[in-house]
Amino acid sequence: MSLKKAQDLAEAGVITEAGNAESFKTGDWRTFVPQFYPANCIQCLFCWIYCPDASIKVDLSGDKPQVVGIDLDHCKGCGICANECPPAAKGKAALVMVREEK
Ligand code: SF4
Ligand code: SF4
Repeated sequence: MSLKKAQDLAEAGVITEAGNAESFKTGDWRTFVPQFYPANCIQCLFCWIYCPDASIKVDLSGDKPQVVGIDLDHCKGCGICANECPPAAKGKAALVMVREEK
Protein backbone atom coordinates (compact mmCIF):
# COMPACT_ATOMS: atom_id res chain seq x y z
CA MET A 1 0.00 0.00 0.00
CA SER A 2 1.41 3.37 -0.97
CA LEU A 3 0.78 6.53 1.01
CA LYS A 4 -1.23 9.31 -0.63
CA LYS A 5 0.31 12.70 -1.13
CA ALA A 6 -1.31 15.72 0.51
CA GLN A 7 -2.59 17.01 -2.83
CA ASP A 8 -4.42 13.68 -3.41
CA LEU A 9 -6.49 13.95 -0.22
CA ALA A 10 -10.06 15.30 -0.24
CA GLU A 11 -10.56 18.73 1.31
CA ALA A 12 -11.79 18.41 4.84
CA GLY A 13 -11.83 20.61 7.89
CA VAL A 14 -10.92 23.57 5.73
CA ILE A 15 -12.61 26.90 6.41
CA THR A 16 -12.97 28.48 3.00
CA GLU A 17 -15.04 31.48 4.15
CA ALA A 18 -14.07 33.36 7.29
CA GLY A 19 -16.94 33.77 9.78
CA ASN A 20 -19.00 30.88 8.41
CA ALA A 21 -19.67 29.49 11.92
CA GLU A 22 -22.55 31.96 12.11
CA SER A 23 -24.33 29.97 9.38
CA PHE A 24 -24.64 26.88 11.58
CA LYS A 25 -27.20 26.86 14.38
CA THR A 26 -25.45 25.01 17.17
CA GLY A 27 -27.70 25.98 20.07
CA ASP A 28 -29.60 22.68 20.01
CA TRP A 29 -26.68 20.96 21.79
CA ARG A 30 -27.75 22.61 25.06
CA THR A 31 -29.08 20.97 28.21
CA PHE A 32 -29.17 24.22 30.20
CA VAL A 33 -30.03 27.68 28.90
CA PRO A 34 -29.29 31.15 30.33
CA GLN A 35 -32.27 33.30 31.24
CA PHE A 36 -31.71 37.06 31.15
CA TYR A 37 -33.39 39.38 33.66
CA PRO A 38 -32.74 42.92 32.34
CA ALA A 39 -33.97 44.61 35.53
CA ASN A 40 -31.07 43.03 37.45
CA CYS A 41 -28.39 43.83 34.85
CA ILE A 42 -25.75 46.41 35.82
CA GLN A 43 -24.25 46.39 32.27
CA CYS A 44 -20.79 45.32 33.43
CA LEU A 45 -20.40 43.31 30.18
CA PHE A 46 -18.61 40.44 31.98
CA CYS A 47 -20.95 38.00 30.20
CA TRP A 48 -20.03 39.46 26.81
CA ILE A 49 -16.30 39.30 27.59
CA TYR A 50 -16.33 35.69 28.83
CA CYS A 51 -18.86 34.02 26.50
CA PRO A 52 -16.81 31.60 24.36
CA ASP A 53 -19.44 31.58 21.60
CA ALA A 54 -20.02 35.33 21.17
CA SER A 55 -23.67 34.68 22.04
CA ILE A 56 -24.33 37.73 24.21
CA LYS A 57 -26.34 40.27 22.22
CA VAL A 58 -25.18 43.86 22.74
CA ASP A 59 -26.82 47.04 21.45
CA LEU A 60 -24.05 49.43 20.33
CA SER A 61 -26.30 52.24 19.13
CA GLY A 62 -26.18 54.38 22.30
CA ASP A 63 -23.41 56.07 24.31
CA LYS A 64 -22.57 52.84 26.13
CA PRO A 65 -22.96 49.22 24.98
CA GLN A 66 -26.03 47.53 26.47
CA VAL A 67 -26.58 43.79 26.92
CA VAL A 68 -30.02 43.06 25.46
CA GLY A 69 -30.24 39.27 25.42
CA ILE A 70 -28.78 35.94 24.32
CA ASP A 71 -28.35 34.55 20.82
CA LEU A 72 -30.00 31.18 21.47
CA ASP A 73 -29.20 29.90 17.97
CA HIS A 74 -25.53 29.69 18.96
CA CYS A 75 -25.39 29.61 22.80
CA LYS A 76 -24.11 26.16 23.92
CA GLY A 77 -25.40 26.49 27.48
CA CYS A 78 -21.97 26.31 29.10
CA GLY A 79 -23.04 28.61 31.95
CA ILE A 80 -19.89 30.76 31.97
CA CYS A 81 -21.94 33.95 31.54
CA ALA A 82 -24.14 33.14 34.54
CA ASN A 83 -21.08 32.18 36.59
CA GLU A 84 -19.40 35.52 35.86
CA CYS A 85 -22.55 37.65 36.22
CA PRO A 86 -22.32 39.55 39.52
CA PRO A 87 -25.44 39.90 41.62
CA ALA A 88 -26.91 43.34 41.11
CA ALA A 89 -27.58 45.75 43.97
CA LYS A 90 -30.77 43.87 44.83
CA GLY A 91 -28.77 40.65 45.26
CA LYS A 92 -30.35 39.04 42.19
CA ALA A 93 -28.26 37.99 39.20
CA ALA A 94 -29.24 39.04 35.70
CA LEU A 95 -28.25 35.69 34.20
CA VAL A 96 -29.45 32.40 35.62
CA MET A 97 -29.05 28.93 34.09
CA VAL A 98 -32.17 26.76 33.90
CA ARG A 99 -32.74 23.32 32.39
CA GLU A 100 -33.96 23.72 28.83
CA GLU A 101 -37.36 22.29 27.95
CA LYS A 102 -37.22 20.72 24.45
S1 SF4 B 1 -24.25 29.82 28.38
FE1 SF4 B 1 -22.16 29.89 27.52
S2 SF4 B 1 -22.46 30.01 25.31
FE2 SF4 B 1 -24.42 30.55 26.24
S3 SF4 B 1 -24.40 32.79 26.39
FE3 SF4 B 1 -23.62 31.96 28.33
S4 SF4 B 1 -21.39 31.90 28.12
FE4 SF4 B 1 -22.28 32.11 26.06
S1 SF4 C 1 -22.62 39.89 33.45
FE1 SF4 C 1 -24.72 40.09 34.20
S2 SF4 C 1 -24.83 42.18 35.04
FE2 SF4 C 1 -23.01 42.08 33.72
S3 SF4 C 1 -23.74 42.76 31.70
FE3 SF4 C 1 -23.92 40.54 31.72
S4 SF4 C 1 -26.03 40.15 32.38
FE4 SF4 C 1 -25.57 42.27 32.89
